[in-house]
Amino acid sequence: MDKILVLNSGSTSVKFQLFLMDSNTHNVISKGLVDRIGLQGSKLIVKTDDAHDFTLETPIKDHKDAIKVVLDYLLQKHLKNTDELSAVGHRMGHGGEYFDKSVIIDEDVMEKIYDTIPLIPLHGPAFVHGVEAVTSLLPNKMQVATFDSAFHQSMDKSAYLYAIPKEYYKDLRIRRYGFHGTSHNYISHKTEEILGFKGKIISCHLGGGGSICAINNGKSVDTTMGYTPSAGLIMSTRSGDMDPYIPLHIMKTQNKTADEVNQMFNKQSGMFGLTNGHSDMRDIIESAEKGDKDCEFAIEAYVYSLVKTIGAYVAVMGGIDALVFTAGIGENSPLIRQKVCEKLSYLGINLDLDKNNQRPCAEEITTSNSSTKVFVIPANEELMIAEESYELLEMEKQKQKEAV
Ligand code: ADP
Repeated sequence: MDKILVLNSGSTSVKFQLFLMDSNTHNVISKGLVDRIGLQGSKLIVKTDDAHDFTLETPIKDHKDAIKVVLDYLLQKHLKNTDELSAVGHRMGHGGEYFDKSVIIDEDVMEKIYDTIPLIPLHGPAFVHGVEAVTSLLPNKMQVATFDSAFHQSMDKSAYLYAIPKEYYKDLRIRRYGFHGTSHNYISHKTEEILGFKGKIISCHLGGGGSICAINNGKSVDTTMGYTPSAGLIMSTRSGDMDPYIPLHIMKTQNKTADEVNQMFNKQSGMFGLTNGHSDMRDIIESAEKGDKDCEFAIEAYVYSLVKTIGAYVAVMGGIDALVFTAGIGENSPLIRQKVCEKLSYLGINLDLDKNNQRPCAEEITTSNSSTKVFVIPANEELMIAEESYELLEMEKQKQKEAV
């Protein structure tokens, strides 16, 4: 059994999970996060199953401090020494066109990761700080990078190239990259396990941010997010797809800067913009039930954007074997799932209402005679990162054996 630490470094937080695993089983030994890095009130929060989270408030000025706090905690509770850690797996935002799978981090990989930072200026630096911190705290420890964009590198050029002058792709690398790839990849694997074959799957990752991915034979063929995670579906505060002239028109006529317009489309749009400032789907559903017309409409618009995309992806793949819901809304909202599935009855989807309403939700929510299956699978990007790290670790061990 190997112990693998998975880190997800954001700009002011680092989430962690310590796994104990072999090729067949896994166990989460500990999980939590360091929050408010570089801010007042920074703290380590260790999640427990019984809602008695352990919290330690301590000054944490940067990612190195944050990861040191995590390691110190793990050394007190779960590790005799850091040699017990076989590898550290990192969630990385962007692999550009360099990476179509997880890789062991070395100097060459780091150079390429640095080169992708301009593609993800807001979040890219934090991911890199996480790797740099581990390199300095645990020199020579095997580190693995798992990229949000990697799974979508299998897209065909006709799916990823925008119809703008070619030099923008060549010089600025502007193309559809897609995100949530680790989640969609995990869904692809889990669905294949359930179905017993790879098939044609549409994976709906519906959280605060949301994306849909068309997966054929285990490969992403198209996805809704694009050059940035702003594209595609209506999201909690992001507009999703729209006419590219709209931001230009607003900038020209309202005397707004690019940053102001960007802020508006990313933070004040989507469900937040369509309602009176509600971004959380739970609040929106509750308000709609109390008769709030804006919230009612926002739900209809949200469902419409899902149904339209699913239809397009069915067309692209020439059919569908399974539709999967995952992430906060996908896993927890029977209402959204029911509304979407009802509009997809033409695909032979026959929802089992009892199963759909069960809590926790059943894995399969369609009836036995439904020709397209619908599944609800909890998102688990951390497990995917741990599994990919484990696989690379095993390959490395094998290589070393062969070299002896
Ligand atoms: P993020 O993308 O922010 O990491 P999550 O995958 O955790 O987020 O999803 C967050 C979203 O899930 C929020 O919009 C929240 O309202 C929604 N959500 C969580 N529970 C429910 C529920 N019971 N019903 C509807 N929406 C829910």
